[in-house]
Amino acid sequence: MPTPIVAGNWKMNTTLTEAIALASEMRDELDTIGGIEKVLCPPFISLKAVKDAVEGTSIRMGAQNMHHEDKGAYTGEVSPGMLSELCQYVILGHSERRQYSWETDEVINRKVRAALAAGLRPILCVGEGLEEREEGLAKSVVTAQLRGALNHISSSDTLAIAYEPIWAIGTGMAATGKAAEEIMSAIRSTLIDLYGSAAAMEVPLLYGGSVTPDNVAEYASQPNVNGALVGGASLDAKRFAGIARGMATG
Ligand code: PEP
Repeated sequence: MPTPIVAGNWKMNTTLTEAIALASEMRDELDTIGGIEKVLCPPFISLKAVKDAVEGTSIRMGAQNMHHEDKGAYTGEVSPGMLSELCQYVILGHSERRQYSWETDEVINRKVRAALAAGLRPILCVGEGLEEREEGLAKSVVTAQLRGALNHISSSDTLAIAYEPIWAIGTGMAATGKAAEEIMSAIRSTLIDLYGSAAAMEVPLLYGGSVTPDNVAEYASQPNVNGALVGGASLDAKRFAGIARGMATG
């Protein structure tokens, strides 16, 4: 069984001052929760300050995105090498980036490869939209995204995958544990096909979409759920810690 991961995606929230205040609350709430990897993903400009605020604790750092090139004339972008001094994780392929920044599976694949080459652990996000779900396409959409993003990646060693149905993100309409498990077992099967059973079983699969301290137990009890990617509830230290505790005790 992989070590579960609970990652907080702060998105475009918190000023530098607010991020430092939230990080110090997180430090007090999260440090003692064992048996699980706790990851904070603040905006780029707050990475260093949040890293400093949680220094010496068991809390890990993650970025919300990155460019696939290592350096060059890409105004406004942040490279894998820059991030590798600040974080262990990077969220890639989030549905908001697919939607608002037109990221394709091919672009995401380049980013996943670049992250791995820089020693960053990607949290690769996949998930279907509401119409796709209603048309019965959820499994095929998600597994196609997965295969596209993992093209030419020969080892699953440091991958983490987040299943985030788009209709559940920030809506309060969380997927049921059973519905999440159905897609996440298809993700596991795809990983078995790509990397073999032993390696695939070690890849942490995170559920994301309106996770709260009240519903986390429903996901933690599913065989193919090894953590959560949390948006809204990660902006509150007590709620995020409640989710981490719920995932750690499974
Ligand atoms: C997310 O954006 O990754 C997410 C899961 O958001 P929320 O928890 O707010 O649904």
